[in-house]
Amino acid sequence: MVGAGFAGVEAAWFLAEAGHSVRLFEMRPKHQTPAHTTGHFAELVCSNSFKSKLPTSPAGQLKAEMLALGSIVLRIAEECSVPGGEALAVDRDRFGEQVTRTLREHPRIEVIEEVFGPGDLESARRLGPVILSTGPLTSPELSEWLAQATGREHLYFYDAVSPTVEASSLDRSIIFAQSRYDKGEGDDYLNCPFEKDHYLAFVEALITAERAPIHAFEAGGKRDAEPQEQEAAFLEKIKYFSGCTPIEAIAEKGVRSLAFGNFKPVGLTDPRTDRRPYAALQLRPENREKTLYSLVACQTRLKWGEQKRVFRMVPGLSDAEFVRYGVIHRNTYVDAPRVLEATLELKSEPRVYLAGQLTGVEGYVESAAFGLYAALAVHHSLVGTSLPVPAKECAYGALVGHLQDDTQREFAPMNINWGLFPSPEPRPRDKAAVRAFKIDAAGRAFAEWRALLDLPKG
Ligand SMILES: Cc1cc2nc3c(=O)[nH]c(=O)nc-3n(C[C@H](O)[C@H](O)[C@H](O)COP(=O)(O)OP(=O)(O)OC[C@H]3O[C@@H](n4cnc5c(N)ncnc54)[C@H](O)[C@@H]3O)c2cc1C
Repeated sequence: MVGAGFAGVEAAWFLAEAGHSVRLFEMRPKHQTPAHTTGHFAELVCSNSFKSKLPTSPAGQLKAEMLALGSIVLRIAEECSVPGGEALAVDRDRFGEQVTRTLREHPRIEVIEEVFGPGDLESARRLGPVILSTGPLTSPELSEWLAQATGREHLYFYDAVSPTVEASSLDRSIIFAQSRYDKGEGDDYLNCPFEKDHYLAFVEALITAERAPIHAFEAGGKRDAEPQEQEAAFLEKIKYFSGCTPIEAIAEKGVRSLAFGNFKPVGLTDPRTDRRPYAALQLRPENREKTLYSLVACQTRLKWGEQKRVFRMVPGLSDAEFVRYGVIHRNTYVDAPRVLEATLELKSEPRVYLAGQLTGVEGYVESAAFGLYAALAVHHSLVGTSLPVPAKECAYGALVGHLQDDTQREFAPMNINWGLFPSPEPRPRDKAAVRAFKIDAAGRAFAEWRALLDLPKG
C-alpha cells in the first residue's frame, strides 16, 4: 500500500483484517504535501464533513454500502463525530489521531515512513500486489512514473471541470438538440440559445460573481499576496494546461469574447425563431444513458452558490439541478476508462492497482470507498477468485460505471450523485417517485452484489 490517506487506510485495514500482511508506505510527516500539515493518516485537508448521513441521499447510500463492507474510516468518523446537522462531521484531530493509532496497532500492518518511489515498485511487486493511493497531490517522481505507465495524455495534473446538471431538470421547450451545421454529432449536443439581452446580463453576472479562494500552494506559495495577485499567479501557472482558463477570466477579456469563443453560435438554428441565436451554450452528455450533461467549456472557479445563481440565468437552465460544480484545482488522476480495469488494476501494469482519488472519484468518502473497493479486488485475486462488478443500481456500481464509461468526453472526476444511478423506464414525471425507485433499487442491487463477494469470515 502506498499512501495512508482515505483510500490507503481503508484498503490496508480491510486486507489486514482479511488475514493478509500489509506494508503501508506513508511519506508524511517527513515529507509533507503542499496541502497536508500533520502526520495523521487520512488527514482532512479542508472541511471536516463527510457529507450527508441521510439514507435517502446518494452519499448516505454510499456510506451504508461501505459500512456493510466494514469501513474503518466511517466507524472512526462516527466515534469522533461532532454536531453537523444532516452531515457526518468530525473533530479532525481526534479523528486523525484515532485512525493513525488504530492502523499502527494492527499486528498485520507494517508502517514505513518513507517516500515510495518508482525504484521501489519492482521489488514491491515481487512480494505481492501493489496499491497506489497517493491521492491528488501524489509525489512528483511517482506522478512521473504514472504518466509514463499510462501514456502521458492519460494522466491529469489539474482538474478543470465544467458544472454538470441532471438531464431531467433541463427546460426542453427552450433547449434544442442540434449539431453544428447538422453534421457529425447527431443529437448528442444540446444548445441553450441566448438572445443579446440575456447574454449581456449573463456576462455581467459571471464576471462580478464571487470566486473561490485560491490555496497558497496553487499560487506558487504567495501566502500573503492580495487575492487578485494570487489569482494572476495561479492563471500563469496553469496556462499551459489545455482547457484550464476559467470561463470568468475569458469573459473578462471583452464583453463579446464568449459569443466569439466558448458560446459561438455558428451552424446552429434555434427552431423557435428559425434564426441563429446571438450565442449558445452547449451541453454534452456525461454518460451513455444521457442522464447527465456537462456545460461545455464552462470550467470555472466561482463559488458553488454563485455557479448555481449565474448558470441558472442561461436560457433553459433556470431549474437546472447541479450534480457537480465546476472546479479548477490541483489534482492528480488518471483517465480511468482508458487505463483501468473494472478492478482498478492498471491495464499496462499487472498487479498494480490504483485507489482513491487517483482513480477519478472525488471527495473524502468516495476516495475511502474506492480504497475499500481496490482492497476487495486484491483480496479476490489473492484467494484465486475475481471480483464481480457491481450493478449500476447501487452506489458502488454507479461510480464504477463512471470510471468505466468510455463515452467520448473529457473524463472528469465525479462524486456520488443520483444522476449516476439508472432511472426507471418509462421515467415517471414525479421526481419523488424517481428517487424512491433509485433508493429501492440501490438497496437490492447492493445486497445482491455483496452476496456474491468472497468476503473473509467474521
Ligand atoms: C486543497 C484540497 C482541499 C480539499 N477539500 C476537500 C473537502 O473539503 N471535502 C472533500 O470531501 N474532499 C476535499 N478534497 C479532496 C480530498 O482531499 C480527497 O478526495 C481525499 O483526500 C483523497 O483521498 P486519497 O486517499 O485518494 O488521497 P489522500 O487523502 O491525499 O492521501 C494520499 C496519501 O499519500 C501520501 N503520499 C503521496 N505520495 C506518496 C509517496 N510517493 N510515498 C508515500 N506516500 C505518499 C500522502 O502524504 C497522503 O497521505 C480536497 C483536496 C485538496 C487537495
